[in-house]
Amino acid sequence: MEFIFFGLLMWGVIIGAIIWWIHHDYKLKNTIHLDHRGYERDGYGTLIHRRVAWKYLYSYPKYPQRFGSYDVHHIDRNKRNNSPDNLQILTRAEHRAEHRAEHRL
Ligand SMILES: [Zn+2]
Repeated sequence: MEFIFFGLLMWGVIIGAIIWWIHHDYKLKNTIHLDHRGYERDGYGTLIHRRVAWKYLYSYPKYPQRFGSYDVHHIDRNKRNNSPDNLQILTRAEHRAEHRAEHRL
């Protein structure tokens, strides 16, 4: 009898831990806050615009270098508009050139 009881208790603890972990991860990924530079980050501290660019824009033959070596640019200059069609993956040099043009205006 105790054998069955502790067996069920053990499964309860394991399943409970898995459910807690999934929920905790979901919460961290979906709790968005602004950092001191005005960019949105999730509960893990990951920049949302980089997460979106990684998921929807980054693909192999188009971007041969690893994702971390690229910058992600906001086309409309709004740091909080993280829609995939507002984001552009640029190399550091391309990105710098893009913003240099802006300062001359
Ligand atoms: Zn930019």
